[in-house]
Amino acid sequence: MSFDTSTLYLFATMVAGMLGAMLLMFGRQESIPALKWWGTAYLLGAGAVAIWTLGGSSLGVHIVLALNAVGFAACGLVWNAARIFHGRKPNLAGLVLGPIVWVATMTMVESPAMRMTIGAGIVAVYAALTATELFSERRRAMQKRWLAIAVPVLHGGALMLPILVGDLLRPHDVNFVSSFWVTLFSIELVLYAIGTVFVIFMMVSDRAVAVHKTAASIDPLSGMLNRRGFTEACTRVIEREANAGRPVTVMIFDIDHFKSINDRFGHPAGDEVLKLFSAVVVNNLRISDLSGRIGGEEFAALLPCSLEEGVLVAERVREAFECSNITCEEGAVDTTVSIGVAGGPAGTELEVLLASADTALYQAKRGGRNRVEAAEELPLSLENWRRKTAGLPATARQKPAPVRA
Ligand code: GH3
Ligand code: MG
Ligand code: MG
Repeated sequence: MSFDTSTLYLFATMVAGMLGAMLLMFGRQESIPALKWWGTAYLLGAGAVAIWTLGGSSLGVHIVLALNAVGFAACGLVWNAARIFHGRKPNLAGLVLGPIVWVATMTMVESPAMRMTIGAGIVAVYAALTATELFSERRRAMQKRWLAIAVPVLHGGALMLPILVGDLLRPHDVNFVSSFWVTLFSIELVLYAIGTVFVIFMMVSDRAVAVHKTAASIDPLSGMLNRRGFTEACTRVIEREANAGRPVTVMIFDIDHFKSINDRFGHPAGDEVLKLFSAVVVNNLRISDLSGRIGGEEFAALLPCSLEEGVLVAERVREAFECSNITCEEGAVDTTVSIGVAGGPAGTELEVLLASADTALYQAKRGGRNRVEAAEELPLSLENWRRKTAGLPATARQKPAPVRA
C-alpha cells in the first residue's frame, strides 16, 4: 500500500483545522476560555503545516522559519490552555520563549542535527509543562486520567515533528516523500488531533459534572453546605470517626423570632442576618468541623468531639451571635439563636443525632430562647423528625424516651 504524503498531510491539517474551529466555537458557546486557547493552537498548528505542505520548496527561508515558530507557539498555546483550564493565569513569556529560542537557533546554529535537537527539546519542554499541569489536576480532582496526560504530550510531539523532520530532510525530495516515517507522522497527527479533542471534551465534561455536583450541595445565600451536602459530608465523617471509635456531636441552630426580623426590617435584611449567622458559625468552628444550612433559618453542625466539648462550642456561637451588634437603616437588629446539641456513641446515625438535637432545640426554645440545651438521651422514635424534614407538622413533642445504653 502506498500513500501520497502531501495528500495525507493536507488531510491531517484539515482534520486538525476543523477540530480547532469546533473547539473555538464550543469554547465561545459555553464560555470556556481554555477551549478557545486549545482551538487557536489547533488552527495555528494546522495552518502552519498546511502552508508548509502546499508551499513546498517555493517558500522562502524566512517563511519556513516563521511557520516553524508558529508551530512552537501552538505547543505553547496547548500548555497555556491547560493552565487556564485549571484556573491559572496564562504564561505569555513562556509562550513566546519557545519560538524566540527557535528563531535564535536558526540564526546562530549551522548544524542541522543540532537544530533538530534544540527544536525537539523545545517541544519536549512544552509537552512536559502541559503534562505537569494535567498531573496536578489529576491529583486534585480526577482519578485515572493518565490518558489526559499522555495524549497531549504525544500530540505536542506529533504537531511539531513533521515540520522539523520535513524541513530537515527536504520534503519535496522524492526519496523523502515516499518515506515510511513521513507517512507515519501524518497518520499520527490525525490520530492525536482527534485523541486530544476527545480528552479535552472528557475533561470539560468531568469539570461540568463536578461543578453541577458542587452547586447541588451548596446553599447559594450563605455559601454553606445545604441539607443534602451536609448530610452526605456528615455520613462520611461519622463513618470515619466510628472506625476510629471516636464520638461525634451534632448541633442544630435556630435563629430566634426570625420571622419578626423579616416583618420589621424586610426580607433582604433577614437574608443579611442569615449570612452573618453563617459567618459566626464558620468562624467559631474548627476546620475539621462540618456545618450547613439545613432549612430557612436553621443551621446544623457536626463536630468530631464529645458532647461536653460540643456544648462549649455551641455556647461560644450563641454568645458571638448575641454580641454581633447587627444594625440596619431602621436601627439595631437584636437577634439571638437557640441551639440543641446531641451526642451519641461512636457510629450513631446522623438522623438519630439530628432528631435528638432537634428535641434539645425545642427545649431551648421553650426554656426562653437564646440558650444552649444538650440532649440527655437519644430518641426512641424518629417519627417527629421525619415528619418535620418532610415538611409535615410534627405531632406534639414528648420528652424522648431512652433508646440504648
Ligand atoms: P422561633 O424563635 O420559634 O424559631 O421563631 P421564628 O420566627 O424564628 O420561626 P418561624 O419558623 O416562625 O419563622 C421562620 C421564618 O424564616 C419564616 C420565613 O419567612 C423565614 N425564612 C425562611 N427562609 C428565609 C430566607 O431565606 N430568607 C429570609 N429573609 N427569611 C427566611
Ligand atoms: Mg425554625
Ligand atoms: Mg427560628
